Amino acid sequence: MERRKFFKSVGLITAAAYIGPKVFGNNQVPVKASGIEGVPASEFPPLPFAYNALEPYIDARTMEIHYDKHHRAYYTNFINAIKGTPIEGKPLSDIFSTMSKQTDAVRNNGGGYYNHLFFWKNLGTGSSGPSADLSSAITKSFGSVDKFKDTFNTSAKTRFGSGWAWLYIGADKNLAVASSPNQDNPLMDISPVKGTPLLTLDVWEHAYYLKYQNKRPDYIDAFWNVVNWEEVNRRYQQALKG
Ligand code: MN
Repeated sequence: MERRKFFKSVGLITAAAYIGPKVFGNNQVPVKASGIEGVPASEFPPLPFAYNALEPYIDARTMEIHYDKHHRAYYTNFINAIKGTPIEGKPLSDIFSTMSKQTDAVRNNGGGYYNHLFFWKNLGTGSSGPSADLSSAITKSFGSVDKFKDTFNTSAKTRFGSGWAWLYIGADKNLAVASSPNQDNPLMDISPVKGTPLLTLDVWEHAYYLKYQNKRPDYIDAFWNVVNWEEVNRRYQQALKG
């Protein structure tokens, strides 16, 4: 009974450590290095802000369905897909780096679980923008912050069908932009673009259709008003240390 109790507490602590606080924004408590790439949460993680927090850029109804239906389904299906298999209890970083050996259910639902966790963290209001360090790196790779945004926008607009746009640090340590299909991401060994992701945008129709219908470019433009740069900056600094 004591053992049971102990493991139960550890599970809760682990979950709390990388779900992060419910308070959103600049006062976010830094997550551990393992962060969202760690062991999957034992319970579906809370959205780090209210459904209406990103209005008018992302509407409350879209946020509610996106988080409570789509994201929750990925989480549930992922947990079910790994249950009783050798990868149960393994960090997401390990699962993604061996994705070529995993099932389609693990690839699609594991990606869907992680990509949305990542996306929620890099959304917010009242952000001040990229740090001096990140701005320099962006300027080095893209010419300017505006040119970086143009590149990212083009990547997001031209992803055919469903997928994600990413800013990531490639193997050469430089910043790069790419998109991925479906629920793939740059941490997966099967991805043609590999690296450490810093910022992402969900361009599945479920992310914008209620408000923007077929106008994906309008949704992409609106996205820049709700980027939580403090989280992007934090991930950049963490990646430099790693
Ligand atoms: Mn989505």
